[in-house]
Amino acid sequence: MNASYSYFPVLVAYDSRVSCCYAATTTTSRTSHHRSIVSLSLSFSSSNLLFFQNPNFLTGNNTIFVTMQRFCSVSGISKNKAMVERLQHFGVITSSKVAEVMESVDRALFVPSGSAPYDDSPMAIGYNATISAPHMHATCLQLLEENLQPGMHALDVGSGTGYLTACFAMMVGPQGRAVGVEHIPELVSLAKENIQKSAAATLLKDGSLSVHVGDGREGWPEFAPYDVIHVGAAAPEIPQPLIDQLKPGGRMVIPVGNIFQDLKVVDKNSDGSISVRTETSVRYVPLTSREAQLRSY
Ligand code: SAH
Repeated sequence: MNASYSYFPVLVAYDSRVSCCYAATTTTSRTSHHRSIVSLSLSFSSSNLLFFQNPNFLTGNNTIFVTMQRFCSVSGISKNKAMVERLQHFGVITSSKVAEVMESVDRALFVPSGSAPYDDSPMAIGYNATISAPHMHATCLQLLEENLQPGMHALDVGSGTGYLTACFAMMVGPQGRAVGVEHIPELVSLAKENIQKSAAATLLKDGSLSVHVGDGREGWPEFAPYDVIHVGAAAPEIPQPLIDQLKPGGRMVIPVGNIFQDLKVVDKNSDGSISVRTETSVRYVPLTSREAQLRSY
């Protein structure tokens, strides 16, 4: 059977073999004029958690499958724009600004060659790290959008491929400041190469976007305080230097936990106090030392 694979971000599974959050796979057949879903395959073991972001999934009606069928018949699924539209279709992206920036920064420039750039899945990038799935990038951009206005400062801790750092830079613009910190020097070089090929290239050249080698647990004091701090790796607890470098009115998004992790939204109030809430459950690689990461934790 000539089958194509696409991802359905409403239903999210966690797999202990993959250190990141990813979405379930749907399989569609191209053998008939009316493409139909022939299976919904989920890769999970007894140690996995499965949860439903969309309560409609539990209602027992077939609306969701009709929706999936319509979605799976979209042609050009392999294009960046189609990926963004898919995330909009399923309500992961609701902001036009986030859609715009994800359309302008082509994900294909940031994933390893040979991998499927628009699949809603995390991918290995070497050094025991991954690029997060598109729906996680979209979720974080949505959460941070209001603090990514032109002229604002954003810090991306564990910047990896540089994808989100580039998105932040596009949003805060040339008057703003987007800073990536990553502790694997080879990934910093890779991120710069990726960004140079992307829509954010001029921002890197002009210096409003920069990527640095460093321990992200210490933040990057040079350009603090930040309106946004995004942490792309899971910390056992929120590092104090990151709280200190957050501007009053600023927002941090950080996965916290070990095996079971919560994506925390940390808001610094005008009096300097902190409000923390949990957005969702996630699975990220650890925010750790370089040595621990390179010896597989
Ligand atoms: N957000 C990035 C990468 C996510 S993987 C992307 O989507 O491309 C998490 C990244 O955090 C890895 O690149 C890893 O090397 C980095 N990392 C882990 N601990 C770190 C630390 N203490 N300081 C800086 N970077 C760290």
